Amino acid sequence: MSDDGRMVGGSARRDDRENVALRPKLLRDIVGQDSVRENLQIIIDAAKARKEPVDHILFYGPPGLGKTSLALVIANEMGVNIRITSGPSIERAGDLAAILTNLKQNDILFIDEIHRLGRAIEEVLYPAMEDFKLDIVIGKGPAAKNVRLNLPRFTVVGATTRLSLLAAPLRDRFGARFRLDFYDQRSMEHIVARAAALLEVEAKPEGIIEIARRSRGTPRIGLRLLRRSRDYAQARADGVITGAIAGKVLDELLHIDTLGLDDIDYRILDTIIDKFQGGPVGLDTIAAAISEDSATIMDVYEPYLLQLGFLMRTPRGRVATRLAYEHRGRIFQGLSEQTELPFEE
Ligand code: ADP
Repeated sequence: MSDDGRMVGGSARRDDRENVALRPKLLRDIVGQDSVRENLQIIIDAAKARKEPVDHILFYGPPGLGKTSLALVIANEMGVNIRITSGPSIERAGDLAAILTNLKQNDILFIDEIHRLGRAIEEVLYPAMEDFKLDIVIGKGPAAKNVRLNLPRFTVVGATTRLSLLAAPLRDRFGARFRLDFYDQRSMEHIVARAAALLEVEAKPEGIIEIARRSRGTPRIGLRLLRRSRDYAQARADGVITGAIAGKVLDELLHIDTLGLDDIDYRILDTIIDKFQGGPVGLDTIAAAISEDSATIMDVYEPYLLQLGFLMRTPRGRVATRLAYEHRGRIFQGLSEQTELPFEE
């Protein structure tokens, strides 16, 4: 996914680079995700006691919720090196072989967007994860030989926004799998306040509450909104992020409403409501109607609209709910007769 400067798309990496200092370093710096944190603490403590690498771990959930941060935290807590790569950047089996043979005992290999690994590459990864063996072919034609190399014991930490796209055998090789959920208001306030302190910007509690409320429960978005508010406060006011300043930046400059929705969310909802009588309508049809990429809608926009209860996924497509109609100032006339029971993906 591209970083085209949108405020809501949780996938932008550019801001994160500016923000290395804001990344949590240890498990105790992680706010929220209590159950994930507790489970990780146990896994880490046990691995340390056994003097072994941690089991392979998979994180899944919408972008910007802390999958990469957690991988870095695990490496820090274990005191080991981490090598960061991603599914699309490993193009050939040889690329993966080169990465694997450079790993040291107990190292962590973080593979972002792991659902985008090619099949041939997955085939190399299976024995590496399971038996710490690397099967390679040396030479070409009839003289080619299969060679099996031993690898050091290492840990794969995988991250994906789409668990359903992960091949079952790959999924099964992760001893621990954790779903990251959107953060609640209190956790978001904590995260924004901590970042404000690290950035040495003064933010009043009302400013922090306002930014947290409109961050879609997503730390990456919260940090971005904080930086934009800081810029405005410094350029147009006395440098302090008050409730009024945050509200003005979010309303007038960024066009993010009180629930964190932006123009694209509105276009998704309005298309379903106005063009398709509330649905059900297929995701690809919605994407075509608003000229957006359907994967972006599915990964970035839809999860939060589902969480708000504005959308339902049904076997026949997406349906706008009464709440969505009310938020968009439309009159709700009941669900279409074609609507079947929602299902979970
Ligand atoms: P993902 O890999 O899920 O897309 P990241 O780990 O890159 O998300 O997190 C995005 C940003 O949000 C990072 O800059 C990180 O500092 C911040 N962040 C994520 N989770 C937390 C958290 N639990 N506490 C504090 N900051 C967080």
